Amino acid sequence: MEEEILYKIILVGESGVGKSSILVRFTDNTFTPHFAPTLGVDFNVKTIRNKETGQTVKLQLWDTAGQERFKSITQTFYRGSHGVIVVYDVTDPKSFDRCKNWVEDINQNTQDGMIIILVGNKSDLTSQKKVSTEQGKALADTLNIKFLETSAKENFGVTQVFDLLVQDIEATMKNTEQ
Ligand code: GDP
Repeated sequence: MEEEILYKIILVGESGVGKSSILVRFTDNTFTPHFAPTLGVDFNVKTIRNKETGQTVKLQLWDTAGQERFKSITQTFYRGSHGVIVVYDVTDPKSFDRCKNWVEDINQNTQDGMIIILVGNKSDLTSQKKVSTEQGKALADTLNIKFLETSAKENFGVTQVFDLLVQDIEATMKNTEQ
């Protein structure tokens, strides 16, 4: 039997940027056991196929479920995670400014080599866009992480975020094994 691969992925970012919407968009139309929230944190599970290796990968996806407002995300929350998605809203510069704090928080609470992706969500709101794609890219370069823009509403870029995460997680694992 094929060995089961399970990765724990966490979404962080300010309240209202679209974390839950990204998760729902990604996990929709699939078998999604819904667990009773523990301490306000909830997770979904989605199985995907790694395009490069053809192997099935199970993703355990954690939403902060409003906890971000209380600034109480701790080491326990990050424990055992393989990747973190830091989300901002392209129409909300404040949510963008906070991303470096989120990345700092992740770096302080996790081991080196954590895969982090910066995601600018709500890219469908072009006329209200206040954070340019270039600004997003520049911040990601400074923080040495990857960057993508998404629209949970229009299903743009969402799958790519998770594909990229899985690829990067596996590439990092291969490197550490060697
Ligand atoms: P969370 O607090 O980060 O989990 O954010 P939610 O997922 O609850 O989304 C906050 C609000 O933004 C909701 O009203 C969503 O409908 C809206 N929203 C989320 N993603 C998008 C998007 O890609 N485009 C647009 N236009 N609205 C979005």
